[in-house]
Amino acid sequence: MKNVNSLLGGLGTTIFTVMSALAAQHQSINLGQGFPDTDGPPDLLEAAAAALFDGRNQYPPMPGVPELRQAVAAHDARFYGLDVDPMTEVVVTPGATEAITACLMALLDRGDEVVLIEPLYDTYLPVVRLLGAVPRLVRLMPPDWELPRTELATAFGPKTKAILLNTPMNPTGKVFTAPELAFIADLLVRHDAYAICDEVYEHLTFDGWRHIPLMSLPGLRERVMRIGSAGKTFSLTGWKVGYVTASAPLAQVVAKAHQNLTFTTAANLQRAVALGLAKDAAYFQGLAAHLQAKRDRLAAGLVALGMTVLPTRGSYFITARFPSARLQR
Ligand code: PMP
Repeated sequence: MKNVNSLLGGLGTTIFTVMSALAAQHQSINLGQGFPDTDGPPDLLEAAAAALFDGRNQYPPMPGVPELRQAVAAHDARFYGLDVDPMTEVVVTPGATEAITACLMALLDRGDEVVLIEPLYDTYLPVVRLLGAVPRLVRLMPPDWELPRTELATAFGPKTKAILLNTPMNPTGKVFTAPELAFIADLLVRHDAYAICDEVYEHLTFDGWRHIPLMSLPGLRERVMRIGSAGKTFSLTGWKVGYVTASAPLAQVVAKAHQNLTFTTAANLQRAVALGLAKDAAYFQGLAAHLQAKRDRLAAGLVALGMTVLPTRGSYFITARFPSARLQR
């Protein structure tokens, strides 16, 4: 028989699936896949359940139900001062995962270069390659995960179409700073490039660190596609509801990609997420504070076992170093 797609045929199973299967097999605590150990807010669960019974279970509008698009726009205005038109500048997708693929599809032609910052989330590279685009990789190094500015500037060139930026960052726990974002902004303008910003951990920052969307920097509103995830913001990772905010011309093309991937997103979940995004400040503060407390507890436990733990400013992740003699049998 003829070969299947060469890229996907050779791709391994994602590490998250591997780790979760091993945890189930060995009945161990599963720290290998990023998801909370509690369910999300009960009022969202109730709203999603109730929404199944009011006769709106057929295909919802392709770019998202109006309630959720309005809620995303209101959220972006409330937290970041962004002025977003809910009708033309928001696209709802089944999870940020699809949003990332749809944004890459919307921008990339064969041969275009995309700047990616390692260590990186595992869907980025395969999708960039499937689209025939060329990744230009820049690596952050522990313990500080500082942006290597010279290398980043060198990665940009005449063929650069976009950067894919993840902040707060999986798996480093880095939150990009205002000067780092300004440096990236300058490169984008100088090279006439776009940014796809994976900001799924936008509300999960610790110790006073604040997430700054690249889109909110001067001159970048039209160049940036901003991606959020209800899974992370409401501790409901199984729901898979994501949202893209972008200028109308970009959002229109993202919607075309979405139209050809899944067309739409579960209607009842969208309506529940719309309620969630309107929650008061105490909810969002509480979410980060609870996770920060869990981060501290886990880090203290790992340190007590003899591991070295790097600081985590945001996200679900901790970086720990194993090679202590105490761990060897
Ligand atoms: N981007 C990053 C950086 C993530 O860590 C994750 C989830 N692990 C996603 C995107 C996917 O989000 P969703 O579940 O909404 O598709």
